[in-house]
Amino acid sequence: MKIVAIKDEENEYRAAMVPKIVKKFIDLGFVVEVEKSLGENINISDEEYQRAGASIGDKKKLLKDADIVLKVNKPTSKEIDLLKPKSIFISFLDPFFEKDLIDKFLDKDITALSMHLIVRTTLAQKMDALSSQANLAGYAAVIYGAKYINKILPMMTTPAGTISPSKVFIIGAGVAGLQAIATARRLGAKVEAFDTRVETEEQVKSLGAKFIKVDLGETESTKGGYAKELTKEQLDMQREAMKKAISTSDLVVTTAQVFGRKAPIIITKEMLKDITKTVVIIDMAIITGGNVEGSEADKITKMGSVTVLAPSNLTNDIALDASSLYASNLFSLIEHFYDKENKNLKFDLEDEILKTATLTHEKKLITPVLTKGK
Ligand code: NAD
Repeated sequence: MKIVAIKDEENEYRAAMVPKIVKKFIDLGFVVEVEKSLGENINISDEEYQRAGASIGDKKKLLKDADIVLKVNKPTSKEIDLLKPKSIFISFLDPFFEKDLIDKFLDKDITALSMHLIVRTTLAQKMDALSSQANLAGYAAVIYGAKYINKILPMMTTPAGTISPSKVFIIGAGVAGLQAIATARRLGAKVEAFDTRVETEEQVKSLGAKFIKVDLGETESTKGGYAKELTKEQLDMQREAMKKAISTSDLVVTTAQVFGRKAPIIITKEMLKDITKTVVIIDMAIITGGNVEGSEADKITKMGSVTVLAPSNLTNDIALDASSLYASNLFSLIEHFYDKENKNLKFDLEDEILKTATLTHEKKLITPVLTKGK
C-alpha cells in the first residue's frame, strides 16, 4: 500500500507529511513517498524525509501508482488527471463551494475525503484538522496583530512611567477565538470576547477574559456544536453592542463562522466611521468572506483610524507546527480505517467518521452533509 504526499501551491507553506509521521506510516506497513522539496517552506530537506524512510520523486511519477494521496489544500485539475482511478485523495476540500471538483472526483472514480468534514466527536478529536489548525491560527492572529498596533500588550511599570495594558476584543469564541483569548491574556492584554453560543460565556471567563453579554433572543447551536446563522434583526442588535467594545479596543480579532455558509458581516463600515482612536482589526474569517465589510484578503484596508487586516493563511507564519499537527491528524484518520492484521484498508462507510468525511466513493456522493444537509 503506497501513500504519497504532494506539494501544495506556492502560497501554502504547510506540508501534509513530516518525517516523524513518515516513520509512523512505515511502522503500519505503508510505503511512503513524498514529492521533491515537499518541506522546503518548513526547512525540512528531502534528505530528512529519506532518513525517516520515505522515497522522493516528481509528482507525475508518484501519483501514477499511489493508493492514498495527501495534500493540504484541494488538488488542481491536472493533479486529479494524474491520480489512479479508485485511489484515495485526502486534503481540506470545501464541500459547499467545490461542485466542479466533486464532479471530477466522481468522473475519475476517486475516493475523496475532506478534512473539513471530520465529525466533532471525542473519538475523532485526534483527526480534527479544522481544530488543530484553527487553534494555531488563533495564536498566530494575536501575534500578527501585535505587530500592527502602536502599543505593547502588557501593562508595564517603568521608571519613566506606567503603560496601561492594551485592550483586545475577540469576536467568536470557538477554537480559534479561545486560543486568541488565551494568547492575548498570556501576553498581558485586557481581553473581552463575544460569541452567539451561550455556552461560550463560561469558557471565555475561565480564560480570564470578560464576556460581553448581548441579549439576542434565541441563538441555537447545531447538533455538531456549530453556531446557527442569526436573523437580520439579531445581527443588527449584535452590531450595536459590538460598536462600543470595538471603539475602545486596540486590537480586535474576528473569528465568527457559520458552518457551510458565508461568514456573517459583523463589523460594517458605518460602525467604524466615528472611531477616532487607533484600532487594528484582524479579520480571520476572510476565507469564507470575512466578518468586516470591505476587508480584502491579504490587503491592508484603512477605514478612518481603523486598520483592517485579513491574512488569508495565518498558518503560514507557524507552518512547521501546523504541518506537524496536520500530518498527525491525517495519520490518525488513515489509521482509523487501516486493518493492521491484514495490512489493508477497511473502508467501512457505516463508520460515522468515514461516512461524514467521504465526499465521493465508487462514483457516488457519500457525506450526509451534502446529501441531507448538516
Ligand atoms: P466555527 O469556526 O464554525 O466558528 C467560530 C465561532 O464563531 C463559533 O464559536 C461560533 O459560535 C461563532 N459565531 C458564529 N456566528 C457568530 C456571530 N454572529 N457573532 C459572534 N460569534 C459567532 O467554529 P469552531 O471554532 O470550528 O467550533 C465551534 C464549536 O464546535 C466549538 O467551540 C465546540 O463547541 C465544537 N467543537 C467540538 C469538538 C469536539 O467535540 N471534538 C471539536 C472542535 C469543536
